[in-house]
Amino acid sequence: MKPPAACAGDAPDTAAPCSVGNYLRWDLSAQQIGELTVELIEQTKRVYDQVGSQKFEDVSYESTLKALADVEVSYTVQRNILDFPQHVSPSKDIRMASTEADKKLSEFDVEMSMRQDVYQRIVWLQEKIQKDSLRPEALRYLERLIKLGRRNGLHLPEDTQQKIKSIKKKLSLLCIDFNKNLNEDTTFLPLTREELGGLPEDFLNSLEKAGDDKLKVTLKYPHYFPLLKKCHVPETRRKVEEAFNCRCKQENCAILRELVTLRAQKSSLLGFSTHADYVLEMNMAKSSQVVATFLDELAQKLKPLGEQERAVILELKKAECEKRGLDFDGRINAWDMRYYMNQVEETRYSVDQNLLKEYFPMQVVTKGLLSIYQELLGLTFDLEESATVWHEDVKLYSVRDSASGKVIGKFYLDLYPREGKYGHAACFGLQPGCLRHDGTRQIAIAAMVANFTKPTPDAPSLLQHDEVETYFHEFGHVMHQLCSQAEFAMFSGTHVERDFVEAPSQMLENWVWEKEPLLRMSQHYKSGSTIPQELLEKLIKSRQANTGLFNLRQIVLAKVDQALHTQTAADPAEEYARLCQEILGVPATPGGYDAQYYGYLWSEVYSMDMFHTRFKQEGILNGKQVGMDYRSCILRPGGSQDASVMLKLFLGREPKQDAFLLSKGLQVDSSEPAAC
Ligand SMILES: [Zn+2]
Repeated sequence: MKPPAACAGDAPDTAAPCSVGNYLRWDLSAQQIGELTVELIEQTKRVYDQVGSQKFEDVSYESTLKALADVEVSYTVQRNILDFPQHVSPSKDIRMASTEADKKLSEFDVEMSMRQDVYQRIVWLQEKIQKDSLRPEALRYLERLIKLGRRNGLHLPEDTQQKIKSIKKKLSLLCIDFNKNLNEDTTFLPLTREELGGLPEDFLNSLEKAGDDKLKVTLKYPHYFPLLKKCHVPETRRKVEEAFNCRCKQENCAILRELVTLRAQKSSLLGFSTHADYVLEMNMAKSSQVVATFLDELAQKLKPLGEQERAVILELKKAECEKRGLDFDGRINAWDMRYYMNQVEETRYSVDQNLLKEYFPMQVVTKGLLSIYQELLGLTFDLEESATVWHEDVKLYSVRDSASGKVIGKFYLDLYPREGKYGHAACFGLQPGCLRHDGTRQIAIAAMVANFTKPTPDAPSLLQHDEVETYFHEFGHVMHQLCSQAEFAMFSGTHVERDFVEAPSQMLENWVWEKEPLLRMSQHYKSGSTIPQELLEKLIKSRQANTGLFNLRQIVLAKVDQALHTQTAADPAEEYARLCQEILGVPATPGGYDAQYYGYLWSEVYSMDMFHTRFKQEGILNGKQVGMDYRSCILRPGGSQDASVMLKLFLGREPKQDAFLLSKGLQVDSSEPAAC
């Protein structure tokens, strides 16, 4: 395949001198965080006041767009210095001060986004300015500010704006209550050891006693998931599944209904026919119609696979019922789903995860991962030995473009758990890669925060395969942050459409399911030997386990979410039951997703297309050209171009679903001519 033409719209940065400054600092006391927050708000507000109070005839690019863009750069860096410590600081006081700062700054953000005086001057500029006098990205910035203003209703009469404001306030309170209800739910079921048959001893021993030989099973994930997967007493699974789905049913169903109604009201005041259309306007999928078609087509194609898989688990159920002397009801119930899907994994795709992890010691994985990314993207990473960081476990690396030797960014790795630290794995953008007020380029800085097992003197940190996948995924976001070369902070790094933001990282997950990269990231922690061929093949094959049912369930959840946000009269529970029957034949649990749930599947389609169309053809480890094309077409623009434009440049054609379907084990009719 011939490589696509060079990406259009290159930022004029090649000429821009680069400033390698790291403007971040991690030495602030709790008191300083409080003081600097107030100072930052005052300074920033002053700029907004200036922009918003100027006479209309004085409005120019410099006095509005540039002033706002410049203050955004310094504001973003300062804000991260103040609000990032809440996730990582070892000091509780500092974490609390940082959380407090975040609250104040979030309120301030809302206030600034509602500045009608500023909005009116930007509209004035748009009407007055010659479009071709602006660089493409500056024009995009102008249009984006106006769009955001309209999405806040700043173009509407005062009383409508007041209505929108009051709805927004109610919405945020309702969301807080909804989550609080779930978090504070203390429901538990007292169950005997017999009723918990099939669960491992260490799980049972970890449960609190509930008196008279019973054990307390809560509805939190660490109890719910293992039980639904492992407990061989169907009646217990049924009780737990039902209780799980009824958590806060009364309070939260009422809240959900009110949320949905208020969101619809707000969207209608803003001129959208549904809330989904309001949300989707900012995404790749521009309307609820596009999402509906996408989900329906996908469901149609996945259905045969789901049916095959359901037949398999029904056989397993029949055999199990015979073995245990239970009645066989001839169908898969909600509470059977995870149990038999787990059996499929354990019998058909058995991978000994405990043996496997002996081949993934942290140091070997990190070394392999960093070397793969450096080669793939033409970058060189250097550890900064004496960098100032927020905790002794944290490492800072600087990143150079290998060809030019120019520093393009830095990243922090904070990989081990500690008290009070953020509990999941994520990438935090800390310093946006964009132009500074004097036209020099600011380097991008990001942090990867995770919670892998910490090594001790006698036990190394060994990663489960899914942790290696998480590591690879999150590091993909880090690279997105660092390789983007936007002009405006608003378009830097991962500030792309929300239904595209996962695609680059999802694509990179493919590396942990391929032999060569796996071999480079692994070595037995004691013997130094490589992963046995048979184990490696089993692992790679296991990616296909339950894909039909898993993805159909994703479609059900996405469709419930869409239904709630397109039809105002939809009842959450009814809608859910109807779609489960129609698509899956089995129910699961919905979440509050604001018409975005489809995004995971949506972006996976693009990630698979990029991987199979280019990397798989040209080389996943030594495809120099494809790696550089990926960096320049997909990562470099950040959000300064539409994702659909970037994808077309990288693929050399419009994106397709074929690769996604193939990766799920489906046959694709390839009667149409090959691309390029
Ligand atoms: Zn992600």
